[in-house]
Amino acid sequence: MRRRKRRRNIQHALLAIGALIVVVAVIVGVKLILEKKGIMEEPDDSVAANTDPVQKEEEDGPTEEELAAQAEAEREAQKQEVMGQAERLALSYDYDAAIELLKTLEGYDLDEEIQAKITEYETTRDSCVPVNINEVTHIFYHSLVVDPHRAFDDTSDPQTAGNSQWMTTISEFEKITQEMYDRGYVMVGIHDLVEVTTDENGNTVYEPGTILLPPGKKAFVLSLDDLCYYHSYDGYGFASKLLVDENGNLYNEYIQEDGTTVTGDFDVVPLMDKFIEEHPDASYRGAKGIVALTGYNGILGYRTDSSYADPAAYDGLDADKKQWLRDHPDFSLEEERAGAQKVADAMKAKGWEFASHTWGHLNVGSLSLERLQTDTQKWRSNVEPIVGATDVIIFAHGQDLGPWGAYSEDNANYKYLREQGYTIFCNVDGSAPYMVYFGEDYLRQGRRNLDGYRIYKNAIGEQDNLSDLFDAAEILDPERPPVPDL
Ligand SMILES: [Zn+2]
Repeated sequence: MRRRKRRRNIQHALLAIGALIVVVAVIVGVKLILEKKGIMEEPDDSVAANTDPVQKEEEDGPTEEELAAQAEAEREAQKQEVMGQAERLALSYDYDAAIELLKTLEGYDLDEEIQAKITEYETTRDSCVPVNINEVTHIFYHSLVVDPHRAFDDTSDPQTAGNSQWMTTISEFEKITQEMYDRGYVMVGIHDLVEVTTDENGNTVYEPGTILLPPGKKAFVLSLDDLCYYHSYDGYGFASKLLVDENGNLYNEYIQEDGTTVTGDFDVVPLMDKFIEEHPDASYRGAKGIVALTGYNGILGYRTDSSYADPAAYDGLDADKKQWLRDHPDFSLEEERAGAQKVADAMKAKGWEFASHTWGHLNVGSLSLERLQTDTQKWRSNVEPIVGATDVIIFAHGQDLGPWGAYSEDNANYKYLREQGYTIFCNVDGSAPYMVYFGEDYLRQGRRNLDGYRIYKNAIGEQDNLSDLFDAAEILDPERPPVPDL
């Protein structure tokens, strides 16, 4: 009995071991099958990333609170951007445009900060007073001297006397610009001076325009003569051309004494653009100067005149042009004109205007009608296509059509210029701080030369006709030698 029991026990144990083996085998087998089917693979990193809590939140999207905060931040950024633009407009005395711009902002009428600005601009606008147009002064420069030593020092060269008399240095220009700004001068456009209307008989009438400035501010017009970078300037320390960068800003090319070329702000256009960028209140509604161009050597530093590309005319070219063509065998009139076009477009975008200075820098006071006609057509076919049509003529050599009576239909040259669309005529008149004269349907304005001769004569006390603008003794470039008499 005990033996049977023991044997049974042994049988039970063997059965149990057998059953255990079967169970383990089954488990291992099932696991192998499942693994093969890819159902029980170990979780890898990519699977873990899918369960990342951050990922989960993004899938759910930001909360309403977060959306509201984001929208508010965007609104605030846009508001600050628009308020900055409005401030620039207000600084340039265009208060209405500034207010209009602020009113484009959503909810402006409930925004205390914007309302305060609108009130401020309205108050300043209403305190402005009209400029007496008949007392607006008009100053002008030629291209600036970059290197006074190259321009003035070689007194055995007759051209240095002209450089010394007619030209202003960069240092003088910068001091004048700052001093006039400090004295409250604001640059206005020549067309701001005029209001053109039509009378009851249908005739065009020229009347003083309306320029409103804060009390104490004074308006002035700026012009630049001969911005062509003539061959005759080469080697005397002037910039050689204007160029445009990728942002539409103008800069100069300057060829140094050692022949290497550098670029930078070496003449009035880029220097004045920078000054007004830094001092928006130096210019009335973004006005810049008006640039008087001849055409015989091209414009703005580009050889755009058809004479350069006309082999038949080659023998008739002057020595400078012939030499330039020899030095530039790859010259292309189309490329030169495209370069000038780019500069002219960029200048216009920045507020600069253009005027005729006659194509050939002629003495208009003693000119035959035939010569004036030929010259005007050259300007219209070589310069106008690049800078656009203009109603302003700034006479060369400071001349005028003639005495007062010259501005009548009896004067053939006047009649012809009127037919060609010119209605604003500028000469040089340094005798008074201003000369503004409105004819029935035209404007004449005298200009003041802020050149070496006048600055020097004022600085040494021989003349006194600049003190309304600046103190010449403070302005005179210490590197400038005494300026010879005319
Ligand atoms: Zn000139």
